[in-house]
This record gives sequence, structure tokens and C-alpha cells, in this order.
Amino acid sequence: MAVRGCSATKNFDISAIFTRDGTLKPVKSVLSVIKLKNTRCRGSYKGRRLSIMKNLLKQLIATAPTEENGELNTANVLADYFKAHGIDAETDCWDEKRANVVAKVGSDDINAPTLVFGVHLDVVPASADTWETNPFEPVEKDGYMYGRGSVDMQGGICAAAAALVEIANSDVPPNGRVIFAAAAGEETDSCGVRRFVEQYKDKIVNPIGTVIPEPTGMEILRAHRGILWLKIQTAGKTAHGSMPHLGINAIEKMNALLNRLKDFQIPHTPHDLLGGCSMSLNRIIGGSATNIVPESCAIELDIRTLPGQSHEEIINSLKAVCDELHAEDSEFNANISIIRAVGALEAEENDSFIQSVCQATGIIETKAAGFTTDGPYFAKLNAPVIIFGPGDGSQCHKPNEHLELDQLGIAKEYYKSIISAMLT
Ligand SMILES: [Zn+2]
Repeated sequence: MAVRGCSATKNFDISAIFTRDGTLKPVKSVLSVIKLKNTRCRGSYKGRRLSIMKNLLKQLIATAPTEENGELNTANVLADYFKAHGIDAETDCWDEKRANVVAKVGSDDINAPTLVFGVHLDVVPASADTWETNPFEPVEKDGYMYGRGSVDMQGGICAAAAALVEIANSDVPPNGRVIFAAAAGEETDSCGVRRFVEQYKDKIVNPIGTVIPEPTGMEILRAHRGILWLKIQTAGKTAHGSMPHLGINAIEKMNALLNRLKDFQIPHTPHDLLGGCSMSLNRIIGGSATNIVPESCAIELDIRTLPGQSHEEIINSLKAVCDELHAEDSEFNANISIIRAVGALEAEENDSFIQSVCQATGIIETKAAGFTTDGPYFAKLNAPVIIFGPGDGSQCHKPNEHLELDQLGIAKEYYKSIISAMLT
């Protein structure tokens, strides 16, 4: 990258990226790292810092880290970015294409006060025919970056990574430790964060808190509901469709359960920020042909839970409904299994970490998120978690997802303030 009127150093160059089909493709535009020595360039220095973040964002989008592709290429781009700026970063790869990245700034002492930035590398898939542009070819237009993951959450990755780089290269290094944990699989099974917490919980002896730069429009969120996705399957006995009396119709058995679930309420006390617990029947699968009595029928329930609610108690209350039906009809048999379970998240408003973040950013009000995150797993590090990042959360998982680029610089400055307030 040519920088007119300033002395600049290009520190590294990524000459190729992996495309969605796994082949290597040359990249003409490379990420250039600029170290300015001329203070007269300070005005445009800010612009170039934004340009570095934008280039990183474009590279991350182009790696298309869907569940199908995995996160390894994305992890390599991010680890290279950190290493190019003199920051220690390690890629942890498993199952050939799954990967986490962990970068560290500051003290090497595991007892040092430690602030964690927790991000996810993966994105949800995008169907090209619902987009106006190719979702994995980033397009910058009118101050926005279009591309799958621009908002959820590669923008947040870029802002937090850039904050770490600037803190690491500042005159006042942190008096403690910042760990940047980029995890795989948040959109599916949280496999990456579970692996990170398992590896690091004994190496973070003195945790201060975790910041999750998911898109919140730079509002500080300190709570969200948990998820409990359940499958309930009724068992029947197959028979020829012309002789139904010889079989047990699993769909009819499911119908009995559905009638009972109409009035079913999960006991709970509404939460100040989060409101109530909810349950939605979102999927039904049953039968194989018009002339075969179905031997199986399944429903899938999306339950959103509140802090303190026990998943086990919810499952037991549904089992009790099934047991009642079995008592009334011995041919009613159902099995409940968990598809996915993530706990709810909550940090108290008067918690010292929350208060310190509010002071460092000048943002007084804290709110709750309508979505879930890897936060409950990061909370297993035994410190509070906040969600605070660039981008409009309503863009997540939608066609033509786009990030307002001005938010990158704003987020980066907030993160630097938080790190400085906690660790200097
Ligand atoms: Zn996300």
C-alpha cells in the first residue's frame, strides 16, 4: 500500500486466500501494516488505521467460515494479523477444518489480572440468490461493508483485534493480561468456546471479566436468555395403510401430546430485563408414505430460559406430561432428547466489572440481549461477561448483511478505554 507523504512499513503480506471450495486464490489487495514516524500525518493516520481494520474485515468475510467450510482459514488470517503486529497468537485446529485462535498481550503470569475478549469465528450460511451481492465477496459501499459475517461478528473481531494491537504497541503496556479468544462453532454447538474454556480455565487464575464484541450498536448488554432445544419423539408400530388397526399410529399419539401442550406453561418468574420464559413448537417430522402407518413422529421445541431456571426441571415437567398420557393410554410412548442447551447469562448491574466498563466508556445504561451468545461458557472462567460491539444486531443472519464502518473505530476506542481502565 502506498502512503503518500508519510514513511510507512509494510509488515506482512497475504498473497492468497482459500475460496469456498477450498482452493487457493491470489489476493491482489494485501493487508499492509503502517507504522508512521511522521507526526504531521496524524490526521490521515486515523484513516489508515480504519483502512487496516477494513482490509482485515474483507479478508475474514472472504474465508466464508460456515459450518460446512470450517474456521481454519479464518483462524489463519486472524493469527497472521496478530503475529504481523508482534502479538503472540496460536491456532488450535481439530477435525481438519475446525479452529480457535488465542492471542495474548501483556504479562505471561497466569496469576496476572486477566481481561478476556471472546469472539466467534464462524458465520451462518448465506444463500446467494437472496443477496444483491456475493455474500462472501465483501463490498464496500456508502460507508458500509456488505458481506456475510460483517456484523455477526467479524466487525467486532476487527475492532477488538485492532484495540489489542494498539495497546500492545503503546508506550504504556497493560499491567496485567489481555487474552483474545476466537472460537469456532458459536452458531451451531459452541464447540470452540467449550474447548477454549477447558484449556484455559486453570491458566486464568485471576479473571476480571469477558467482553464479547457481538453487535449491540455499542450498547452494553449484561444479560440474555438461555436456549433449550428439545426433541420429543413418539413411538408407534408400522402397518399397511389399509389395515391401520394392526399398527400404532405415532402421528396420532403425537396429536394427543400436542393437544396437551397447548395449555402447558413452563413455571417461571418474569425477569426485570428479560421478561418471560418462552416455548415455541417449530418443527414436526412424521410419516414416510401415504399408505404406511407411521412408526415415528417427532416435534422440536425452542425453549428460551431465564437466569436461574433449571433445564432439568423443565425437561422433567415435560416428562410428567408424557407420563400422564402413558397412564391414560399404554400405547402412548415418548422419548425426550436435548438438541442444544445453553444457559442464560446475567451479570448484576452493580457488579464492579460492569461498573468499571460503564465508567471507562461513559455509557451509563446497561440492557439485555434478545439473542444468545457464547457468554455462558465464558462465564465458566468465573468472571462477569458483557456483550458490547459494533453493528446493528437486526442485520444478523439476514441477506445483504452490512456493517456501518464508522462503528469499527468507535468500538476500537471503547475497547482500548476498557483495557486501559482495567489494566493500567
Ligand atoms: Zn454472533
